[in-house]
Formats: sequence, C-alpha cells, structure tokens
Amino acid sequence: VQTIGVLTSGGDAPGMNAAIRAVVRQGLARGKKVKGIKRGYAGLLQGEIIDMEAKGVSDTIQRGGTILQTARCSEFRTPEGQALGAEVCRKHGIDGIIVIGGDGSFKGAQKLAALGVNTVAIPGTIDLDIACTEYTIGFDTAVNTAMDAIDKVRDTSTSHERCSIIEVMGRGAGYIALWCGIANGAEDILLPEKYDYDEQKLVNNIIANRKRGKKHHIIINAEGIGHSASMAKRIEAATGLETRATILGHMQRGGSPTCKDRVYASTMGAYAVDLLCEGKSNRVVGYRHGDFVDFDIDEALAMQKQLPEYQFQVCRNLSV
Ligand code: ATP
Repeated sequence: VQTIGVLTSGGDAPGMNAAIRAVVRQGLARGKKVKGIKRGYAGLLQGEIIDMEAKGVSDTIQRGGTILQTARCSEFRTPEGQALGAEVCRKHGIDGIIVIGGDGSFKGAQKLAALGVNTVAIPGTIDLDIACTEYTIGFDTAVNTAMDAIDKVRDTSTSHERCSIIEVMGRGAGYIALWCGIANGAEDILLPEKYDYDEQKLVNNIIANRKRGKKHHIIINAEGIGHSASMAKRIEAATGLETRATILGHMQRGGSPTCKDRVYASTMGAYAVDLLCEGKSNRVVGYRHGDFVDFDIDEALAMQKQLPEYQFQVCRNLSV
C-alpha cells in the first residue's frame, strides 16, 4: 500500500486516539501517506478526508473520545453505499484502510476488502464483546470508570443502609458487570448471558443479608437486562428497604484512557499498519494468550464468545 486511510466507527471508546496516533506515526515511519477519514463510513461516503501529519496527532494519546469522530451509517450497509465507499477511496488514492470499531464495523471493512481496498480492523469497544480477542480498546478504561463510580455509590448506600441497583453498560454483553461484580464486591450481578432472573430469589437474598447485619446491598445490573428504576421500586416494595437505581450511562465511554488502553491501542495501531505493509487484507488484529495476533475477518466474525464461567462462579462465591 502507498496511502493508508484510518477511521473510527460505531460507539466511541477511550484509547481510540492512541490507536489513530499509532497508525499515523507508524505509517509515516514506514514511508506511507496517511489520511484521516472523519465520522466513520458516513464521512467516507461524504469524502470527509484529511491528510494526517505526525504533529497533528500530538497531545492526543491521553484524550478520551476520537479526534476523527465516529458515526453509524445505514447507507454503508447497502451494496451501492459500499461501492461508493470503494470509489471514494480510489479517488483519494487510499489503497489501505484501518477501521477501528466493533464487529458491525468489521463487516463494513470486509465489504471494502471484497471491493479491492486492503483493510485491517482493530477491535474498539468498551463492551469487550468481540470473540476473536481477549482485549478491546476502551474496556479497561470503562470498567475502571464504572468501578470508581460504584465505590462512590456504595459509600452513600452503606451510610443510609440502602439497597442499590447500579446499571452498567455493555449492551448484550455482561463483561463490565462481571468485572465490577468482582472488583466492587457486589452482592448480586445480573448478566444477559446468565439470564435466569428470579426477583423473589433476589428479594430473599437482600432480606437474608440484612438479617446477617449487612449495611448495604449492591446489585450490578447489566445494560442488556435494563429497567433498573422499576426493578428498584418493586424491590423496595417487597423488602421494605429503601432501594435506589443509578444508571451510570455515557460517563463510562469517556475519560482519559488507562495505561493499558494507551499501550495496547498503540500496539494494535502499529500492528495494523505492519499488516498492510506486508500486503495483508481482510484481517482483524486481536490479543490472545499474551500476544498480539491477527485473523481473517470472516473467521473472526464466525467465532463465538462465552462469558468466563469460572469468574462468574468466583463472583458469586465471594459475595457472601
Ligand atoms: P459498537 O460495538 O461500539 O456499537 P459496531 O462497529 O459494532 O460498534 P455498528 O453500529 O454495528 O457498531 O456498526 C458501525 C457501522 O458499520 C454501521 O453504522 C455501518 O455503517 C457499518 N456496518 C455494520 N454492519 C454492516 C454490514 N453488515 N455491512 C456493511 N457495513 C456495516
């Protein structure tokens, strides 16, 4: 490849800027031109493309969000939209694209690869719900943000001897909830993958804990379960204990990335450039068993991910 385009797509995640910066600087170091595509596939179709220089990405590694902005683009799901995307690439001399996003964004990259544009995808999502990798950009920051917030809710919850339902993000995936369940010592976690929700059991557990002298009861509710506020009302009515719901929401997507997110995102960005320089296409970068690796996008999308059962049991067993 001669000219590498880079874009961020789908939900933003802290650490995306570190990956963009790495793509730009590794690309330039390897003698390539690098162009930034704004607003994901939407910006690609509009030709919102800028030249990227080494200095243009200075002072970005520590920033949350994405300096290229991100978007969801329904037009790019159509064959016409994809053909236009490939055409815009050719017009701008872009013969390689690095897509940073979730598995929806990978499908877009797959389509561009089929149309002759070399593509490499990097997993960027706070949800950790990408099967081919044990690491996704933004999860570490998001889970630390959620953990800190839950600690704070727990303080006031203990003072007032309340029951607290705290809803964390993750869409259909329970990784943030599971990790916080262990890290915050939650009494209960409700995960979409383990959905055997039995409110009576929850109520009995809260009452039993209170009898044993517990001053709070923290329930971490994964986003995919939802309805935290109405659940709080029902639990308060059934237990007679003051119960409040806190929805952490979009704060989990923002903030300065952790060291791990900066280092891993930088490594993945550089790795993606190296793959393009080796003439590879339709690849996705991953992290497995302590190494940075890559997979064919088709194979990566066909993989299934299971929530770690052992960690789930640990979470349950430790929340006595
Ligand atoms: P997140 O997990 O953070 O939501 P994502 O990349 O999975 O990220 P999506 O909204 O699913 O988010 O996808 C982002 C964009 O990728 C879509 O708006 C669309 O432009 C493109 N895309 C998704 N699916 C396809 C597809 N099947 N074919 C072509 N493009 C697609």
